[in-house]
Amino acid sequence: MYSSGPLHRNPNRQSGLTDLNRAPVLDDGSARSLLARAREARAQAYAPYSNFPVGAALLARDGRVFTGVNVENASYGLGNCAERVAIGKAVSDGVRDFVAVAVIGPQDEVECAPCGACRQVLVEFGRDLVVIVPDGANVKQYTMDELLPGAFVPSRLGQGEVPV
Ligand SMILES: [Zn+2]
Repeated sequence: MYSSGPLHRNPNRQSGLTDLNRAPVLDDGSARSLLARAREARAQAYAPYSNFPVGAALLARDGRVFTGVNVENASYGLGNCAERVAIGKAVSDGVRDFVAVAVIGPQDEVECAPCGACRQVLVEFGRDLVVIVPDGANVKQYTMDELLPGAFVPSRLGQGEVPV
């Protein structure tokens, strides 16, 4: 399904642009497929306290998809978000190069944007990483540059971009 990996990207898009009127960076079918994977993953969410299950599906440039769900805890502050769980799974499998992440909350057609903590963790792996969320019956796509402008990224430490 994702065999062409980054080729799903819109070739007309220039990296780093923040033009909100630009074309989506994944074709609609690929975006919907990734969102479907996030929706499937959501069934495994452990959210007994918030009753707000979230699923994420992280598409690596090599075509692999890593899913994540929110994992809550009786000590509320220790809960972790679906996006960060997916990042942790991928990185622990040696994957650091990502194209997009789809995120879906309890309602299939309602946008569930990444929280601030997740935005910081996601931008570590690319300001042009695409975030896909539902938008009614459609899908909406953002780049991390749009969701977290002026982010604190690896280059701010003077160490260049994150090694992949
Ligand atoms: Zn989060």
